[in-house]
Amino acid sequence: MKATLSPSSRQKFKAAALIGSGISSLAKRRSGQEASIMTFHGLCDGMGDEKVLDWSLHLPVEIFRRVCAFLASNYHVISMHNLVSAIEKGDGLEPNSVLLTFDDGYASNYHLAFPILKEFNLPATVFATTGFLDGTERLWFQRMDLAFGTTALPHLDWDFEHGKERLQLTTRAQRQEALLKLLPDLKRMPDEDFLSEIGRIERLLDVSPLPPDQLPAPMRALTWDQAREMKTSGLVEIGAHTHTHPILARCSATAIEAEIITCRDRITAELGEAPFVFAYPNGGPGDYTKECVTGLKDAGFTAACSMINSRVTLESSLLELPRYGTPESVWEAEATVSGAFEAVKAWRRSASNTFMSFLS
Ligand SMILES: [Zn+2]
Repeated sequence: MKATLSPSSRQKFKAAALIGSGISSLAKRRSGQEASIMTFHGLCDGMGDEKVLDWSLHLPVEIFRRVCAFLASNYHVISMHNLVSAIEKGDGLEPNSVLLTFDDGYASNYHLAFPILKEFNLPATVFATTGFLDGTERLWFQRMDLAFGTTALPHLDWDFEHGKERLQLTTRAQRQEALLKLLPDLKRMPDEDFLSEIGRIERLLDVSPLPPDQLPAPMRALTWDQAREMKTSGLVEIGAHTHTHPILARCSATAIEAEIITCRDRITAELGEAPFVFAYPNGGPGDYTKECVTGLKDAGFTAACSMINSRVTLESSLLELPRYGTPESVWEAEATVSGAFEAVKAWRRSASNTFMSFLS
C-alpha cells in the first residue's frame, strides 16, 4: 500500500524541513518591516467532547501555551492598535512582529487563552460575533456539527452541486467526513436561502438545535462580562466579526450593512467603545467584496483582517490585512511567523528550484 501523508502531516513535515535547514532563521533575519497575524478560534483542555466533530476550531491549550512561550522569547508580539498605527504613520514596525487573533468569541478565549496571554504578557485581539455572545444567534457551523454529531439516522441523501449522494452516518469518522463534504457546498449558497437550508438539514437529520447553555463546553460563547474583563486588562482588544457570522459576499447590500452596524453597535453598547477592527467571516478571497470594505470604512472601522495567507507590510491595505491560519505545532508557528514559507514560495517563483518542489 502506498504511504500517504495527510495535509496536516505534510504541513508539519514542511515546517520541520524549513527549520532544520536553517531557512526559518535566514527568513527571520530578513523580515524587518513585516508582521505576521496568526488566527486562532477556541482552545480545548484535552477533554474531547464526543459531540464535537470538527476539532480544528479548538486547538489544545498545551500547544497554544508552547506557541506563546516560543513567541514571547523570539518575537515581538504587538497589538492590533500598534500595527494599525505603524501602518497609518508609516513609521515602521518592530522587526519580527507577530499578532495573535481569535475569531468568533469562544468562552475558552477567556478560560484558557487569557491566563496564558497574561502569563507571557502578550496582547491579542478577539473578534466577536455579537449575536453569539448575546445568546440570540447560534453559529451555523456549530448547528451543522451538532446535527451530524448527534443524529440517530444512519445516512443522509444530499443533492450536491455535482449530483445526489448518500452520506453514511454510522461511525464517527463517517459523520466527520459527511460534515466536511457538505460545508463547501453550504458556504457557496446565497445568504437568503442559507439559514432555512441549515434548518432543513436539521429536520432531515431529525435533531433540534441546542440552546446556548446546553452546548458542549468548547462551543460556548464568551459572556460580555468576560469580554469586558479582558478588554479592561489592556491586553485584549475586542474586534468585530459580524452579528450572525454569514459569509458577507453571499449577502445583499442591506444585509451586509446590517451585519456590520449591528455588530459595531452591540460591542459599543457593551464595552463603551466602538471597535476599530473587523474580521471577515471565512475571510477567503471570494468571501468578501469591495462593498464590504466600503461598508466598514463608512461604519468607522480603520482596519479589517481577511484569511488570505500572507505577511503584513507597511504597504498592506488596512481594510484587507492578510492573516495565517492556526499552527498545529510550535514548528509550524515558527515556519509561519519567520517568513520561511513565504521565502521558499518566492524563491521557487524566481529560481524554479525544482528540488524544493516537495515544499510546494
Ligand atoms: Zn469566524
